[in-house]
Amino acid sequence: MPVKYNSGVMSRKSIGNKKGCALCGAKEISEPRGEERYCRDCWDKKIAVEEIVAREFALKRYIRAHSAEKYLVYHSTQKRPIGQIIVVDDGYDLFLTMTIYPNFAWDDPAYHLEGDPEGRTFAELLVDVVATEVIEPWGGGKWHLEVFRSTAAEPEDWNGEM
Ligand SMILES: [Zn+2]
Repeated sequence: MPVKYNSGVMSRKSIGNKKGCALCGAKEISEPRGEERYCRDCWDKKIAVEEIVAREFALKRYIRAHSAEKYLVYHSTQKRPIGQIIVVDDGYDLFLTMTIYPNFAWDDPAYHLEGDPEGRTFAELLVDVVATEVIEPWGGGKWHLEVFRSTAAEPEDWNGEM
């Protein structure tokens, strides 16, 4: 079963709802909006760390068509691609299919902050990268993303003509 994401539910996982900032204990918590668990400073720090980690991913587009695109996903620690993304625009919504390969530790925490109750995996962080680098340039709007885990390190290629 693929993991599904869509534009309506981009919420972050949270564990419990302690009083005060989850990281430093400060009383004034203001972030993220609607699910306040962090003070402004700690939140900025967390976002900065996520941005650095996200920059380790690189999405390389190798097919560009009128209403579809295909990308390979790379990570700075690996020579070979670690996933691929297909984007299809049906004229209304954007449909994304992401296949992630087993040559990368997708379920590992992408970073560690002391005492942070809200960890994020590399797979979750890649969804953010896709939202910024693929979905936004398409104009945003409604989108649907399915994530499949491949058991083969890379896809097999079949070419032909009938
Ligand atoms: Zn704090």
